Amino acid sequence: MNQKPLTTSELTELTAGLHRLSRNLWWTWNQEPQEIFHDLSPRGWTNLYHNAVAILHEVSDYELRMRLQEPEFADRVRRVLKAFDAYLKSTDTWGAQNAPELLKHPVAYFSAEFGFHETLPIAAGGLGMLAGDHAKAASDLGLGFVGITLFYREGYFQQTVNADNWQTEYYSHLKPANLPIEPVLNANGEPLVCSVKIATSTVSFRAWRANVGRCPVYLLDANLPENEPHQRDLTLRVYGGDATTRVMQEILLGVGGVRLLRELGLQPSTFHMNEGHAAFLTLELAREKMAEGKPFAQAWDETSKQCLFTTHTPVEAGHDRFSSDLMAFAANKFSANLKLSHQELMALGRVNPNDAHEPFCMTVLALKGSRAANGVSELHGAVSREMWQCLYPGKTVEQVPIGHVTNGIHVAGWMKGTVRRFWRKKLDTAHENPDTSTTETTRFWKSKPTIDWEREINSPEFWSRMADTSFISDEELWSLRYRLRREMIEFTRRRLLLQGQRLTQGDFITFDHMLNPDALTIGFARRFATYKRAPLIFQQFENIVKLAHDKQRPVQFIFAGKAHPRDDEGKKFIQHIIHLSKFSDLKGHLFFIENYDVHVARQMVSGCDVWLNNPRRPLEASGTSGMKCGCHGCLNMSIMDGWWREGYDGTNGFSIGDDTHPTSIEEQDRRDSANTFRVLTEEVIPCFYNRDATGIPRQWLAKIRRAMTTLVPQYSTWRMVQEYTRKYYLTK
Ligand SMILES: *Cc1c(COP(=O)(O)O)cnc(C)c1O
Repeated sequence: MNQKPLTTSELTELTAGLHRLSRNLWWTWNQEPQEIFHDLSPRGWTNLYHNAVAILHEVSDYELRMRLQEPEFADRVRRVLKAFDAYLKSTDTWGAQNAPELLKHPVAYFSAEFGFHETLPIAAGGLGMLAGDHAKAASDLGLGFVGITLFYREGYFQQTVNADNWQTEYYSHLKPANLPIEPVLNANGEPLVCSVKIATSTVSFRAWRANVGRCPVYLLDANLPENEPHQRDLTLRVYGGDATTRVMQEILLGVGGVRLLRELGLQPSTFHMNEGHAAFLTLELAREKMAEGKPFAQAWDETSKQCLFTTHTPVEAGHDRFSSDLMAFAANKFSANLKLSHQELMALGRVNPNDAHEPFCMTVLALKGSRAANGVSELHGAVSREMWQCLYPGKTVEQVPIGHVTNGIHVAGWMKGTVRRFWRKKLDTAHENPDTSTTETTRFWKSKPTIDWEREINSPEFWSRMADTSFISDEELWSLRYRLRREMIEFTRRRLLLQGQRLTQGDFITFDHMLNPDALTIGFARRFATYKRAPLIFQQFENIVKLAHDKQRPVQFIFAGKAHPRDDEGKKFIQHIIHLSKFSDLKGHLFFIENYDVHVARQMVSGCDVWLNNPRRPLEASGTSGMKCGCHGCLNMSIMDGWWREGYDGTNGFSIGDDTHPTSIEEQDRRDSANTFRVLTEEVIPCFYNRDATGIPRQWLAKIRRAMTTLVPQYSTWRMVQEYTRKYYLTK
């Protein structure tokens, strides 16, 4: 270790390096940089909600330079910056080997939302989280990839609950200077400004770049002084406003996104539409070709060869439809540009082109305008083929050209620090310490020259070796589970304290005694869309109360989730669950954490023992929150829908019901709630509380090991992005 004081130039280099690091989201999926920012201001790290950019505003450069005079700290910073630069510069990547053509002509991935981290809350739910995880994996794999989305300066709403337990929304203003994004500048060093015609006027926009490791994601921002106030507000909120705002946002995203890419000199090989919101990009691509003199039919044909579409839901509300009047008002420019009559334009978004009453559907436009389309799980692929068969007259359901790529998650990004340190230590010990080379697994790690952590945690070999009880004992694994459960419980207590102070003043509750660290803890957290049936388990209310109160084998529940601001049915679900948690016999055994987001999600998927998922089959196209559980040793208990239908193998978690569902919704709800209770009492609880003489639940831990080996590498965006590349990005 260097004990001499750092020179001025070294200090400048390290300080500048930390600033550079803070503006690349790479730090959000790596542990060591987060620990550095944490150590610079431990209190700030919590209060500023893990925001590295804000930490560097809080800690002055002078203070930073003084801190760097601590040799051990400077050494850590040096190591991290070295790893960061090596990551950015590495040319020996999966992408370079398997898809070199994409490095020159990247995939342009358009999504109305991207979820990267709690400091940049511009995602409403799973769709956005998936987009963020897609970008992170594309970066890790060294794929040619750029993302396009909007910069919503108020993001997605923050949730609180009023005295009637009714969800209320508030918005906080996102300041670019405090976010891990950078302005996109022109040659003169000024913000690059582009424009799009929307309705009767021109809307100007600028762009911000989120550096996602090696991959840029551009965020379009209409908040410019030259725009009218209502135009500036196009990029105010995620899915904010009415249908008019929505169609205008989507014109900005699709058309504006393509224009920005051209300004940046990019010629993407594939335009990947993550859901139909971005489908107007097809009309811009066709316009470009017509400007070169091609007739519409040819331009459209060539456009569709460039595009790929991923549909994400069979739920009706997930498919935007705009009336003919609205299209005539907001999107009139398309007809003019493409030399189409209004009816011809409308036909591009209609199942039946001749039906003058049919609204314009973005999913239909996306399907017509792409060379290939896919759903996000095997079952969802099949459901989508049936749903859209109407667009392919003469084809049987099986012939409808919609395939599937099952979703994944970015493992490194979701893995909690505690768990990362645990696995790392395990590997490093095995790798470095010759005295422990007693097992085959330890010998395996020892034989590796260096451990490529990122690659390992996405590889089946890594996880299969974690099943070796002589490498990781049951005792160690159970101790890790205890630690994670406690961390989540303490997090929940803190949150409940904050929530309670605001809402039940004077009602003294000893928050430190809430939740039982020994109890089987069941988690449920996701958007409160009604098809996800958050309150389903409480249909067996009296029975659930008995389970919760069982002194020998207690069960407790933690819920979280937001309802869409205009979804009163979803808000009623929230109200019902909070009401139960405060005023029913479940009080003290059921808790609702407000303001579900990435951070809450990470706590819950790591700390809960069981992750409950009970959507109305087959409406959960994939679901991803359950995938975040595997690497933490939390087990899924789910309806056989979406990814779980593929992931469950009888040994790695619990299934509710089978691979079928009745047609009647009432019958389905009744059957699923009965099955949920049955699985809970006959399988989950007995297994969790079946302890041997030393107090260890061997069978439970065996299931955790099975979940780790069979699920983690498979339901990772590393696998998913490779699959997209082979199946769709490289085939024309
Ligand atoms: C993972 C995640 C989701 C998606 O969860 P599903 O179970 O797929 O609905 C939504 N929101 C947040 C914050 C997440 O982390």
